[in-house]
Amino acid sequence: MKKIMSRTIRFFLFLFVIWFFISCSTRITGSEKTIALTFDDGPDSIYTQQVLKVLKSKKVKATFFLVGSFTERNGKVVERIHKEGHCIGNHSYHHLDFWNLNSNDLLEKEIKPTSELICRLTGIQPCLYRPPFGYMYGDFR
Ligand SMILES: [Zn+2]
Repeated sequence: MKKIMSRTIRFFLFLFVIWFFISCSTRITGSEKTIALTFDDGPDSIYTQQVLKVLKSKKVKATFFLVGSFTERNGKVVERIHKEGHCIGNHSYHHLDFWNLNSNDLLEKEIKPTSELICRLTGIQPCLYRPPFGYMYGDFR
């Protein structure tokens, strides 16, 4: 029974993540080549500010995938990212290797708190999620 519940939770988590990507993806139309700039593992009080300065000078927008524990310490930087028109994504709370987490812990301890924090600072619920180390479904073994 526990195994069935675990599979059900994983299935709904999978659907939730897919829905996130589909509902938030931006369609690029036309034939021009496009590059998306993304930055992970911030915000940092020094380096993220430097990146923002360069992006502003070049009039370029990017996506910042933020770690919740850093977001808590650098709220002003998050507000600046948002104010300057960049996209913000969720990059977990602790930046752990999700291989060792079950899907419930992943959702409750890593994704939700980070999204709530970003929402509190910007008023926007992040709709993009990038798993640390690129690994998404730790317990889908
Ligand atoms: Zn990372």
